[in-house]
Amino acid sequence: MLENMNEKCAVVGIYGHKEASKLAYFSLHALQHRGQEAAGISSSDGEKLHTIKDRGLVMKVFNEQKLATLSGTNAIGHTRYSTAGDDSILDAQPVFARYDLGEMAIVHNGNLTNADEVRNALIKKGAIFQTFMDTENLIHLIAKSEKEKLLDRIIDAVKRIEGAFSLVFLSRTKMFAMRDRHGFRPLSLGRIANGGYVVASETCAFDLIGAEFIRDVEPGELLIFEQDKAPISVKVFEPTPKKCIFEYVYFARPDSKVFGQSVYQMRKNMGAELSKIRPVEADMVIPVPDGGVPSAIGYSQASGIPYEMGIMRNHYIGRTFIEPTQEMRDLKVKMKLSPMTDIIKGKRVIVIDDSIVRGTTSRRIVKMLKEAGASEVHMRISSPPTTDPCFYGVDTPDKEKLIASNMSTDEICDFIEADSLAYLDSDALLRSVNATTDDYCTACFTGKYIV
Ligand code: SF4
Repeated sequence: MLENMNEKCAVVGIYGHKEASKLAYFSLHALQHRGQEAAGISSSDGEKLHTIKDRGLVMKVFNEQKLATLSGTNAIGHTRYSTAGDDSILDAQPVFARYDLGEMAIVHNGNLTNADEVRNALIKKGAIFQTFMDTENLIHLIAKSEKEKLLDRIIDAVKRIEGAFSLVFLSRTKMFAMRDRHGFRPLSLGRIANGGYVVASETCAFDLIGAEFIRDVEPGELLIFEQDKAPISVKVFEPTPKKCIFEYVYFARPDSKVFGQSVYQMRKNMGAELSKIRPVEADMVIPVPDGGVPSAIGYSQASGIPYEMGIMRNHYIGRTFIEPTQEMRDLKVKMKLSPMTDIIKGKRVIVIDDSIVRGTTSRRIVKMLKEAGASEVHMRISSPPTTDPCFYGVDTPDKEKLIASNMSTDEICDFIEADSLAYLDSDALLRSVNATTDDYCTACFTGKYIV
């Protein structure tokens, strides 16, 4: 259960629709799983940009009255998981600025690997930063560019940054969407049924607003949206794809199509592969909800071992501020996940989870199942051991806190007190997602960083 790894953000852009800010709002609802700390929307009415952003869930940040002030046919939106930077409202997005060409707003999913270097160079030249966000670098780079047109300034700016970025820019009349050359983070393009275009981190947003998936924005590609025109494509970088494989393992919603493939199907494939390479005799397969559900279905269907909901998840638990004693920590897990005692009692269970980060949650889950009467608990993980942190837009603990970077699988098994533990290996994971070339980033379990 990757509760210690969090996708940092989601982005959305709506162009050429009379209810642009409402569609951005609904899209952000669909993308809420990618960031729960802050949300924001900027709209443009052709004359001016309007921005509302605040800390909290999308539902808390916006209401009917606020949305009514976000007028215009174009809008961009963002949900944020607070990491680089801090928790303040200043670090919510869109980042808005006035500069010599007018007004501009930007939303960003990803992490710039040369952010400090660029920022320090800008500060030396007199730039004053308001936030700790790497996204603010872009505002300064665009404002200081000597090119005349915004399009050329954006190209100028993105050539100075490195790392992971799926970006959407909004000016008074245009919208631009861009993915870095490696395409670490997803970004898809769709057509809205009753007019206009949408770009979003995941296609689950399209389904909600009645948009049809056209294609992904390609790695290294910049799309330009102008009034009454189809999007214009500019190849800014030669693409060298390294798509984040963890989007399939954990981050994306199962009903999304990411990098052109169904997330649900990829997770089922992982479960089926896991059953083939890491079989074990048992009475039932149960998922750790919600992340382990599709893989557990895949494991069950491929192995013929019955699937059961052996653990229930309470979706109404927010953050709980309770004493950090051992007893209270166990209670915290039970508040979120409860065992179905009647189903589990006396049974040999295979528990499917998507990953083990620190190991403490897995240990509590095994303990909870044994206390509920399971005779054997076999833990199966639908990804390889997480040994290295991510620098491309996912918040991970430091390497020394990742249990798999310090312990062997047998040692982790002893630590979590399971009867057996096995992971999916790298080759099986790549097979599961139909990777035919070396076009996925796997750095958090191989340590092979590209940038
Ligand atoms: S390091 Fe892991 S989480 Fe980060 S982009 Fe690569 S595969 Fe995704």
